[in-house]
Amino acid sequence: MQQQYTEKMTFILIAMIGLILGSFSHTLAYRLSHALPLFSKRSHCDLCGEPVGIVALIPIVGYLWHRGHSTCCHKPIDWMYPVIELASSMVFFAIAWHNPSLGIMGLLMVWWLGLLVMGLTDYWTLQLYDSIMYPWLLVSGLICLIQGEWFFAVLGAVVLVAFVFGLARLLEVFLKKPTMGEGDFYVLFGLFLALRGASTLGVILIGSLIGILLGVVLKKKELPFVSLLALGAGVLLCFKV
Ligand SMILES: [Zn+2]
Repeated sequence: MQQQYTEKMTFILIAMIGLILGSFSHTLAYRLSHALPLFSKRSHCDLCGEPVGIVALIPIVGYLWHRGHSTCCHKPIDWMYPVIELASSMVFFAIAWHNPSLGIMGLLMVWWLGLLVMGLTDYWTLQLYDSIMYPWLLVSGLICLIQGEWFFAVLGAVVLVAFVFGLARLLEVFLKKPTMGEGDFYVLFGLFLALRGASTLGVILIGSLIGILLGVVLKKKELPFVSLLALGAGVLLCFKV
C-alpha cells in the first residue's frame, strides 16, 4: 500500500517537473529565436515587455487563471504555451513509465527537451542553434552507448542520413528549391542514435502525417522538418521506447 502511494507520488512529481521544464524550454527557444538575453532576472510579457506576475508564471495554472490573457496589456497569450507545457508533462510521465532505468530515463527527458527547443526555433526562425544541437547530439550518443550495440546504431544512422540526403537532393532538382538544411541531417542522425531504426521511422511517419494534416487539411503554415520530428517524437515517446 505504502509502496503504491510512493510510486503514484513519484509519477505525479515527474509530470510536474515535465510541466516546469517544458515551460522553461519554451521560454529558452523563444529567447533564442528572438535574440533576447537568455537569462534575465524576471520574465517579461512577450507582448508589451512589462514584468510578469507570479501567478502568470505557473505553468498551465497561470494561463487558465488569467483566462488566456496577459494581466498587463490584456492581450491573448499564445495557446502554444499551455499546450507545450502539457505535452512535456505527458512525455515525461511516459518516459518514466516505460523506462525503469534511472540513467536512460533522465537522459531521454533531457533529450526530449533539446528536441523540443530545436523544433520551436526551427518553427519560428527556420534555424537550429549550435548551442542546443551539439549538446543534444552528445546526449543522443550517450543514450546510444548505454543501450549497447552502438556500432550498428551508428552504421544505421549513417545509412539513413545518406539515403535521406540523396532523396532531398533529388527532390531539389525536381522542385527547384532547397528542401532540407544541414542541421536537419544532424537531427536525423541523433534521432537514430537515441531511438534506433524502427522508432526513427515511426517518428518520421507520425511527423509527416501531422505535417500533412496541418498543411493540407487545415491549410496551416507548412511546418519545418525538425518541428515535425519533435512532434513525431513526442507522440512516439508517449506510447513507446
Ligand atoms: Zn503585456
